[in-house]
Amino acid sequence: MDRVEVEYKGKKYVRHGHDWYSSIGEKTPELQSILNEKLLAHENEKLWVARLNDQTLVFDKRIPPSGEIVTFWYLEKDQFINLERDHARSNSISIQDQAQKTKILEKYRGSSVVRHRLKLQTMGKEYSGVRYSANKVRRETNCWSCKSPITSENLPECVTCGWILCSCGACGCGRSDQLWQD
Ligand SMILES: [Zn+2]
Ligand SMILES: [Zn+2]
Repeated sequence: MDRVEVEYKGKKYVRHGHDWYSSIGEKTPELQSILNEKLLAHENEKLWVARLNDQTLVFDKRIPPSGEIVTFWYLEKDQFINLERDHARSNSISIQDQAQKTKILEKYRGSSVVRHRLKLQTMGKEYSGVRYSANKVRRETNCWSCKSPITSENLPECVTCGWILCSCGACGCGRSDQLWQD
């Protein structure tokens, strides 16, 4: 897990689980909501929201561009698309309205496709995309990672392993071989 740190009034605070601690390790429940808000604002700075024709796009600085190709999350389709940097730059209009931006970023954060991509990123694995299964048989299972129940209906699956994406973003790619034997 990444170390999550926020500065507030000249002091540093660290988050463990859902709790915040001061630099000397004291729990600071009274600052919980302020620090969470600060963290969200800080994370939002790494996200850029724009309109390109009729598409709403989010650019996440945690997903590095490769050369002239930049990857955007395409809200209306809940998928990632690659665009040429210059094309995107000259044709998109950045969304400045805070309320609108917040709404879009909430959807971004709630997307299993986004969680999936960032999960692979932190595992150092390549993202090959997601697809909606042509298999009409309803599959029902529990996520090996977070244990939540998942069904295959209308859920995207990982192109690499063919597993349904859980809302936590996990597919079969992060699962170790020993766990297969059940
Ligand atoms: Zn899960
Ligand atoms: Zn996978």
